[in-house]
Amino acid sequence: MACIGKSSQGLGERKKVVVIGGGVGGSVIAKSLQFTADVVLIDPKEYFEIPWASLRAMVEPSVAERSVIDHGDYFSNGHIIISAAVDITEGGVVTEDGNLFPYDYLVIATGHRDSIPKSRTERIAHFQKECEKIKSSNSILIIGGGPTGVELAGEIAVDFPDKKVTLVHRGSRLLEFIGPKASQKTMDWLISKKVEVILGQSVDIDSASDGLYRTSDGETIRADCHFLCIGKPVGSSWLRETLLRGSLDERGRLMVDENLRVNGHKNIFAIGDITDVPELKQGYLAQAHAQLTAKNLTILMKGGKETRLAAYKPGSALAIVSLGRKEAVAQFPFMTTIGCLPGKIKSGDLFVGKTRKGLGLNPN
Ligand SMILES: Cc1cc2nc3c(=O)[nH]c(=O)nc-3n(C[C@H](O)[C@H](O)[C@H](O)COP(=O)(O)OP(=O)(O)OC[C@H]3O[C@@H](n4cnc5c(N)ncnc54)[C@H](O)[C@@H]3O)c2cc1C
Repeated sequence: MACIGKSSQGLGERKKVVVIGGGVGGSVIAKSLQFTADVVLIDPKEYFEIPWASLRAMVEPSVAERSVIDHGDYFSNGHIIISAAVDITEGGVVTEDGNLFPYDYLVIATGHRDSIPKSRTERIAHFQKECEKIKSSNSILIIGGGPTGVELAGEIAVDFPDKKVTLVHRGSRLLEFIGPKASQKTMDWLISKKVEVILGQSVDIDSASDGLYRTSDGETIRADCHFLCIGKPVGSSWLRETLLRGSLDERGRLMVDENLRVNGHKNIFAIGDITDVPELKQGYLAQAHAQLTAKNLTILMKGGKETRLAAYKPGSALAIVSLGRKEAVAQFPFMTTIGCLPGKIKSGDLFVGKTRKGLGLNPN
């Protein structure tokens, strides 16, 4: 176990709140409750990373200096445990290294688990390596046409227009998490930037040799390097052997009530992508879950009545996928649009300043 942060000195009779997962939702709740509860934040990495800035960081690694943030920078009055949670009992959370952290209230925010480096320094060096890989390649294969693959293709096509980019996607359309209009507009945009898009096929990475990749339909693609951008599974497999196994739905999501409490467990909350809330899985919604849960926990910790707890209303179908530095495709509840207008909302700073500000940090 690596434990960073201040001791419980001065925390008196504060309730113990354990937050599992230091991602978009977990970081907000840990920050929000650090002066009202005795908060333990458990995460296998030492930092919070703004996920929607990571593709820009691959073409411009200096972006990571602002988008990869040590947990201690926004959460200075609590306990940071660098390990993965592996079990939950009625009273405590067990981490991979065998330690037990008791809780009065538990918040689960393990949206997705990625195999990325443990320290911020290693993560920034990782982006530098990825950037060198892009720069030294003439042809690049991107596997996966979800938001990660599309945003990466957009970044490379805009910053390195002379490189040959091929994007292969197993599904019948790009960006399947949003509507078909957005998929078509994105497809047209990528083609206009000379990205070759192949739909309905997959690539067997293991059989690749000498820069030749074979698709499921037997096509051959020549590329100097590849990036695997397939969706990450929900970070809930570790819950299958725990107290909460009966609260997972068939997709591995935690079933929650209107107060974002895990069904059947009054003192256990879940927020972000791991929940079964019927809405798009988006970071701004994970942040809204965190803010609502912080308020509800504050009420409960002060002995307030359950009837005072705020109820969560699922968010609207709003999503913006950036396409390089100036453009984006956006799905709003009543329209879908592409180009510089949605690009103005997201693609310049990629909400990095806004996210940093939300964590109480200098936006720059
Ligand atoms: C390319 C891309 C672009 C996106 N753009 C946007 C955007 O513009 N706007 C937007 O709102 N959303 C966007 N999203 C979606 C957004 O990133 C997610 O909805 C958001 O990250 C979900 O937050 P979360 O807190 O639920 O989980 P995550 O942010 O995935 O955090 C999960 C955390 O849990 C930790 N963890 C996992 N397993 C364990 C364990 N067993 N023990 C302890 N810790 C664990 C992980 O290390 C991680 O820190 C984008 C996503 C992608 C991929």
